[in-house]
Amino acid sequence: MDTATVHITVDESPVEIPLGASVLDAVNRLGIPLPQLCKDPDRSPLGACRTCLVHVEGQRGLPAACHLPAREGMVVRTEHPDAVRVRRAVLDLTLSMLTPSLEPANERDSFQELGAAAIRHGLGRAGHAPHHRFEPDVSKSFFVLDREACILCGRCTVACGDVQRIGAISLAGRGHDARVGVFGDSTMASSVCTSCGQCVATCPTGALRPKETPARIVREVETTCPYCGVGCGITLRVREDGRLATMADDVPANHSSGGTLCVKGRFATGFVHSGDRITTPLIKRDGMWREVSWDEALEAAADGLARNRGHFGALASAKATNEDGFVIQKLTRVVMGTNNVDHCTRLCHSPSVEAMLVSMGSGATSNSYEDYEEAGCLLVVGADASANHPVIAIRFRRAVARGARLIVINPKRVELCDQADLWIRQKPGTDVALFNAMARVMLDEGLGNLDFVRTRTEGFEDWVRSLEPYTLDYGERVTGVPRADIAQAARWYARPPFSGSCRIWGMGITQHINGTANAHAVLNLSLAAGQMGFPGSGISPLRGQNNVQGCGDAGCIPTNLPGYAGYGEGDLDRFERAWGARPPAEQGLVVTEMMEGCLDGRVRAMYVVGENPLLSEPDLHHAEKAIQQLDFLVVQDLFMHETAEHAHVFLPAAAFAEKDGTFTNSERRVQRVRQAIEPAGQARPDWWIACELAKRTARRLGIRVTGFDYHQPSEIFDEMASLWPSVRGMSYARLEGGGLQWPCPTPEHPGTRYLYGDSFPRGKGRFVPALQTAEAAELPDPEYPFVLNTGRLLYHWHGGTLTRRVQGLLELAPRLEVAVNPVDARRLGVDDGGTLRVVSRRGELTGYAHVTDAVRPGAVFVPFVKLGDSAANFLTNAAYDPSTKIPEYKVCAVRLERI
Ligand code: SF4
Ligand code: SF4
Repeated sequence: MDTATVHITVDESPVEIPLGASVLDAVNRLGIPLPQLCKDPDRSPLGACRTCLVHVEGQRGLPAACHLPAREGMVVRTEHPDAVRVRRAVLDLTLSMLTPSLEPANERDSFQELGAAAIRHGLGRAGHAPHHRFEPDVSKSFFVLDREACILCGRCTVACGDVQRIGAISLAGRGHDARVGVFGDSTMASSVCTSCGQCVATCPTGALRPKETPARIVREVETTCPYCGVGCGITLRVREDGRLATMADDVPANHSSGGTLCVKGRFATGFVHSGDRITTPLIKRDGMWREVSWDEALEAAADGLARNRGHFGALASAKATNEDGFVIQKLTRVVMGTNNVDHCTRLCHSPSVEAMLVSMGSGATSNSYEDYEEAGCLLVVGADASANHPVIAIRFRRAVARGARLIVINPKRVELCDQADLWIRQKPGTDVALFNAMARVMLDEGLGNLDFVRTRTEGFEDWVRSLEPYTLDYGERVTGVPRADIAQAARWYARPPFSGSCRIWGMGITQHINGTANAHAVLNLSLAAGQMGFPGSGISPLRGQNNVQGCGDAGCIPTNLPGYAGYGEGDLDRFERAWGARPPAEQGLVVTEMMEGCLDGRVRAMYVVGENPLLSEPDLHHAEKAIQQLDFLVVQDLFMHETAEHAHVFLPAAAFAEKDGTFTNSERRVQRVRQAIEPAGQARPDWWIACELAKRTARRLGIRVTGFDYHQPSEIFDEMASLWPSVRGMSYARLEGGGLQWPCPTPEHPGTRYLYGDSFPRGKGRFVPALQTAEAAELPDPEYPFVLNTGRLLYHWHGGTLTRRVQGLLELAPRLEVAVNPVDARRLGVDDGGTLRVVSRRGELTGYAHVTDAVRPGAVFVPFVKLGDSAANFLTNAAYDPSTKIPEYKVCAVRLERI
């Protein structure tokens, strides 16, 4: 007999369950519908509701199944008359707490649990209490809190406190006055609630329920969130009217989210149905858009591309699938004969990728998300994870609860600072000095991992020599950080209290003119400490968009072929054999060079897919001038936007819920994207459009091409896997059940949780000296005395193209706020909510003052979402990191004017 399992009988059915499992687990395994109102399927039992009472042969009383350990040979009856009678009484009592009006929003929502249990026990669905004690709290945009429907089971407070670790709600009051409440007995909107919906998903009665109009759910499809690079699994729920239910739920086999979602993943898929989706191909004639057939639009697009071969650039989408990206780069290389293909990684993590390729030989995060929860120290640099990667921030909070040290390095007080053991607030642009000073402490105090350095790295001696000037005195003077804090950060990072250390960074250190030096300084420190290659350690650039990792992997970068293959003869031969055409051997232009190329004639036609450079490029007036110079522009997207307005042809693309494919998240996990609904109108998947465009352009050019006749995206994935050894072992079939992390070189390989356990892809890890140079290209002066910093918000994604079309998000963040320190606000004579004009040498915007000490005196923060006519990139500076050409979005000089 297997001693790791026990065998019991429930309602005369035998069942085998793991040792230590509860009787309720056995009941659920058999699919017996036993009430369990306070039991969240993913959490430990609370034992609060007493609705899962069962009869056990030879045992007195009626135990709660959730708290009853299963023992070998146990005989359980859920339908025993005594158990049914007492459960009925408990349910009746529970219903008596409710008002009679409760109706579910969706038939399959969790709060059916109480209604269904009541009906099965011969009771009405709703309660019969004549009293009315609480007004519903409708202050949140996506859901209501209706305390009249609350049975005080406590599932929501566990979801908020123990799962999300936010603690916005708790059980307050006593006896008859007991209720779910927020701090100060105020409204939900005034609390720290982030609208993540974890509590709504778990509520068994509908006391917490979405605001959407009720509808029957006809289909559920597991897919991957279309927003950030965390890549949480979501279940798309299709209503009988064909629309997506606003409340998505998490996927049971979800490795990325660990059973949690943020507000965008749970509630914000409604942009798919937005009334202003473009769903018919368009051609511009005489300055006016005309609806045309696909054939006409594709022929016009092919004509424009063909006549500009040799002067072409493609901007692929990090929101589209790997398969979409693979076909777009193939079109660019095989048909258009250029490597001018890039995507938004240029604007976020190109310094990280380049530095990691040079130092390690791989440009990806080394660890998995679970390592954050196992680490003894988390060093989070230039990243506002709570806003940008909320589900990763939950893992950070869980790590802190387990005793891990959290060090936050950020000039701005981000939410994580509240949980940090140490917050380092360096002067913007002084990161290299800070990391090098930390490195000196590590070496001076003998905290480095010299075994690792000796056996696994090269270039150590040169790097140590380069650190000579970076004393603690120098570090303190340049960065403004007290020397004791610099030293403490170095000590905790090198010698965490347990396990290893994870180094996590965001665009706060990459979007600078010295972005690549910053990334090298980070990596040097990690190499010297040996903090990678084992559980609980690692180096993690947090990727922005949902598929920015995959878009680069698929080859949408001008510096490499798919799978980061180079342009050497061997790789070119290999791709020529596969594609029947040899890719060009020279590196192409990066996106920022393409913009310059529009002005100097190197680029005359562009194919822009799912991107909006006239919102994302720095110095938007300059970018607009560049786009206006183009002879021909094709835009492929869901919506008309600033760049699309300048296009000659618009090709309507299918949204993520309307197509199949894969996304690759920030931990290198390739995950399935599955079609849940038909594409809107005539919209088509990006890969299909790109294939048609490739074939028609080639025909006009008289080029014979093969390999654009895919019937389904799995064929594209298989081709990509055949060309890139790191995913050769993957297939759609193998990605079922939560995806796989590359490298996964063979069909039997389980995927790779962490990199660099034994070696680096380049052989030895390489130290690359990094020097502190100018803090920024543009520093404050008497005319422009403030330092502008830009970033994202929890309730909007990037420029807001998708999130501005989700009403609930707009209600949460309706207007552009300019964060200013109280000292500056007083000097300017502006109150919180007052209007401000922000002016740089390149442009201006207006916004509403948010007076907060989250920014230091002399600093201003503006999110780069476009709300109204205001967009931060009218202000930002088109100065570039010389190596990767990433623009310096994070620092420029501005002045503030009270309006
Ligand atoms: S929505 Fe999220 S943050 Fe708000 S109360 Fe519910 S669990 Fe807490
Ligand atoms: S954390 Fe990112 S991937 Fe996860 S639900 Fe939120 S937006 Fe989607």
